[in-house]
Amino acid sequence: MAQATHHEILVIGGGTAGITTAARLRRKGKDDVAIVEPSDTHYYQPLWTLVGGGIEPAAKTARPMAKVMPSGVTWIKDAVEAIDPVDQQVTLESGRTIEYGYLIVAPGIQLDWDKVPGLPDVVGTRGVSSNYRYDLAPRTWDFIKDMKSGHAVFTVPDGAIKCGGAPQKIMYLASDHWQRQGVLDDIDVTFILPGDGIFGVPSFARVLEQVIDRYGINVMYEHEMVAIDAEAGEITVVDRSGDTETTNRLPYDFLHAVPPQSAPDWLKATDLAEDTAVGYVDVDPATLRHTKYPNVYCLGDASNAPTAKTGAAVRKQAPVVVAHVLADMAGEESEKRYNGYSSCPITTARGKLLLAEFDYNSDPAPSIPLNTAKERTDMWYLKRYGLPVLYWNLMLKGLA
Ligand SMILES: Cc1cc2nc3c(=O)[nH]c(=O)nc-3n(C[C@H](O)[C@H](O)[C@H](O)COP(=O)(O)OP(=O)(O)OC[C@H]3O[C@@H](n4cnc5c(N)ncnc54)[C@H](O)[C@@H]3O)c2cc1C
Repeated sequence: MAQATHHEILVIGGGTAGITTAARLRRKGKDDVAIVEPSDTHYYQPLWTLVGGGIEPAAKTARPMAKVMPSGVTWIKDAVEAIDPVDQQVTLESGRTIEYGYLIVAPGIQLDWDKVPGLPDVVGTRGVSSNYRYDLAPRTWDFIKDMKSGHAVFTVPDGAIKCGGAPQKIMYLASDHWQRQGVLDDIDVTFILPGDGIFGVPSFARVLEQVIDRYGINVMYEHEMVAIDAEAGEITVVDRSGDTETTNRLPYDFLHAVPPQSAPDWLKATDLAEDTAVGYVDVDPATLRHTKYPNVYCLGDASNAPTAKTGAAVRKQAPVVVAHVLADMAGEESEKRYNGYSSCPITTARGKLLLAEFDYNSDPAPSIPLNTAKERTDMWYLKRYGLPVLYWNLMLKGLA
């Protein structure tokens, strides 16, 4: 049998978290870092909202993986299938085994399309789309621009999702477009969400409530879409707002659907997963170290750190993980802590954005010395042009 390969630091996933962390480790002089990543393409997902809103082309959000791999890092083009944290090794889809000294788990989140019966078959066709996939975000815009009247429905699934604000961002961009076209009065816009408030931080929620009123959006709190009947052009919605659950059907002509999400199934099956149905990696929320295996860390969407799952959160998490790995290697302890910082740049119209930044306590955590508790044009330009530059040129290179 072939001998297993060994790497001092093994990173699972070459997405936002994996590349950022590996680049930082290289800058700190670590010369045996490997990333397992199956995909040829790296995506800047935050711009998918603007693709669905007809503002940016999809191609602008994708770059060859080879171009973002930090130099000096070994790219293992394969997918992890299993992790054995006791023997400190991972098994790949190809059957190969890789041993590690330290493991950084960052394979992102799984989109559970099939949890909504009818969704996998129809999404991308017949008025149903989702910005949660690269190939579908342009379809969202096709449907929005063709719509002149009828029912437009935007949904949020129960449970944590990546960028919890994304389902409403596209709703505001669509409503703004319909308003500019003079057809908003003929379109009845409905937002279906499981929570009982529009946003977790009250100061930002107040602004968003005004945006909702401005567009005349009908919000159905404590509701969830559970099935799609594409033949009838109707969805099934569960109402959990009362003492007993009730089920209703609602018509749609355009539906922006966000699938339920969870940790990848293979990761749920490992000993690293928390004991829940969603199975995220169980970490200390301040150090991002695994609660049971001290040489394992997890950051990004796959961890159970109780923050909003965003690339902005990853930017603050990566330096913490790197500091702890380096300290561990030196037999020291790092004082660095992650405070739950996350950010959600909410597009409220073409040219307007509410930059919501907050921490584990849902307290505002502004990083810009401006009043960001209101819709701003400069923050729109930050999202459209500034943040992509920051991402490709600094963050993925371990510089920001
Ligand atoms: C529509 C939308 C809008 C968003 N808007 C924003 C925003 O405005 N601001 C913001 O900060 N964030 C936003 N996000 C969220 C942000 O993109 C994610 O939080 C971020 O990409 C998480 O990084 P990650 O590395 O954990 O996961 P990802 O970046 O998704 O990377 C995971 C990587 O792991 C790889 N992988 C998967 N399985 C395996 C395996 N078995 N073995 C090895 N590798 C594997 C994948 O191929 C992928 O490259 C948005 C996301 C979406 C979908």
